[in-house]
Amino acid sequence: MESNCDYTKAVFDHFQNPRNMGEIEDADGVGTVGNPSCGDVLKVMLKVDGDKIEDVKFQTFGCAAAIASSSMMTTLVKGKSLGEAKKVTNKDVAAALGQLPPIKVHCSNLAADALQKAIGDL
Ligand SMILES: [Zn+2]
Repeated sequence: MESNCDYTKAVFDHFQNPRNMGEIEDADGVGTVGNPSCGDVLKVMLKVDGDKIEDVKFQTFGCAAAIASSSMMTTLVKGKSLGEAKKVTNKDVAAALGQLPPIKVHCSNLAADALQKAIGDL
């Protein structure tokens, strides 16, 4: 487990207990992005009520960093307005996680990209 010290507590927490992982059957918006260098694929589903993100879920075939950042992203936008969610960037997600090893930053970049794609799909 020595290599795990590359990750912050927040990354571990969200990797081991991912928030909002699953599927929204009648999603209003869906965004899927892939990351060829690591093989990560992330699908984000949104359920909105007016201007509010009522629910957000994600499914991923990804590495630890991809799972943790997707989970963190959902906690940043759930219950927020679409206007607020549109402002969430990859940098915000990375900052909320603390620090990712540089080699893993590209994985965390999927989260906000998929979110913005899902918002565009509404
Ligand atoms: Zn990855």
